[in-house]
This record gives sequence, structure tokens and C-alpha cells, in this order.
Amino acid sequence: MSNQDLLKNTLKNRKQRMTAQRELILRIFMESNGKAMNIDDVFMEIRKKRNHRTSKMTVKRAIDLLVELNILNEVNYEDEGTKYEYIFKEKNMENIIFVCENCNKATSFSIPKEKILSLLPEDIKGFQIKNTMIKITGYCPECSKALIEDVKETIIK
Ligand SMILES: [Zn+2]
Repeated sequence: MSNQDLLKNTLKNRKQRMTAQRELILRIFMESNGKAMNIDDVFMEIRKKRNHRTSKMTVKRAIDLLVELNILNEVNYEDEGTKYEYIFKEKNMENIIFVCENCNKATSFSIPKEKILSLLPEDIKGFQIKNTMIKITGYCPECSKALIEDVKETIIK
């Protein structure tokens, strides 16, 4: 199921319509090439597309829904606040998100859904799993390297 279909079906089940605005917000993220955007960024993109009638509240609600559907990923940056990014997901694949604690860069990796399910403990049986989300934090390769250099310098001095 494509993300558009997923959104459309969910809205239909909730007796809500797939509005042009909701579709536009989804498209903005799909065309963003994975760039993380906050509500203001999305709002500006909508303005650029000359849709002035959308309120920030509408944007916020649409984004919340896309997060709930696992179409968008919410990343909380220490200094930049909450941003959202589009999750490129292939069929039967799940994303693992890595967030660097130093530069806040988020990177996503996809692994087969089966692999995640095989890792789950026995006592999870009986739970109906709809979505999985794995977030790993640490240091990205660039920051790891920089940190090691820092330590080396300190030791030499
Ligand atoms: Zn980093």
C-alpha cells in the first residue's frame, strides 16, 4: 500500500476526508528528500504553493496524523526543537533511526520487518504488532572521529 493509500484509507475509516491540504502536506514531505522540517517550514512551503488558507493548526494536525501512521518520523532536536521527516519505507521493511547526540543528525536504516519480529521476546506473544520503531542514539561516524581526535590532542598535550 502506498503512503497516499494508507492515509486515504485511515481517513476513510475515521470518516474524514482526504483533503487537498492533507495531500499537499504529504507531498511536501515526499518531495523533501528526507529533509527534516518543522511546522513553520511546512507552513512556508504551503505558502510558496499559494495555498494561503491553511492554518498552522491544520498543518500541525495533518503532521500528527502522519506521525501516527508512521509515514513521518518525529525527531526532537535539543536546540532546533521538534522536526519531522519522511520515512522512505519499502514493502516488508522497517526503519531504524539513528540520532547523533552531538550534531543531532538523524539517519535511517531499513531492515526487514521479519528480522525485527524475530528479535522480540517470547512474552510478547498475544500482542498484535502494528508498527515497530527503533531509535538508536550515539555518535555518528564524523562526530566519533572528531571526539577521538579531541581525546588524542588532550592526551598529547
Ligand atoms: Zn554527529
